[in-house]
Amino acid sequence: LTVNQYLKNHIRTVADWPARGVQFRDITPLLQDPKVFRVLIDAFVHRYMDKNLRPDVVAGLDARGFILGAVVAYELNVGFVPIRKKGKLPFTTVQETYELEYGSATVELHTDAVKAGDKVLLIDDLIATGGTMMAGKKLLEKLGASVMEGAAIVDLPELGGSAKLKASGLPLFTLLDFA
Ligand code: 5GP
Repeated sequence: LTVNQYLKNHIRTVADWPARGVQFRDITPLLQDPKVFRVLIDAFVHRYMDKNLRPDVVAGLDARGFILGAVVAYELNVGFVPIRKKGKLPFTTVQETYELEYGSATVELHTDAVKAGDKVLLIDDLIATGGTMMAGKKLLEKLGASVMEGAAIVDLPELGGSAKLKASGLPLFTLLDFA
């Protein structure tokens, strides 16, 4: 059993949530079991401990990217910054709006969250259309930082998001996918 398959065995698929026809990949069982949680976090930490891949800061995407990103940042001994849905951050922010299947969404980042030239690791739980991660990358770039890699537990390659992100020049690291 590979680490990736072991982790995949702890993802719960919920049919018809949040809408009919959607197969939601629920990552909460990975967090609930302390042994699995450690294997999950270590999969990221081992990669980014390498001196060539060590980021200056970890940015996490609202909301499951906070859970992963904060622990990974702590283990790497670097800072963590949250990219939040609009209206949650108290200080001055940069904003980025992107299209969803129905309507649009806006994400925000504090203007002092990163410095120009910082190498940032951007983390979320899952890549679907790639819109969320792309918006996060644009926010970090607005502040002059560069995203050295995007990381997620799950990729849904059939939705084309990971291909789009890679085509934009963003390297990606994901642990498993669902076709
Ligand atoms: P995207 O912007 O790539 O289309 O969607 C990814 C975002 O939506 C991520 O922030 C992710 O948390 C959330 N998301 C969409 N579908 C799923 C899913 O099936 N499972 C989980 N855990 N998150 C999802």
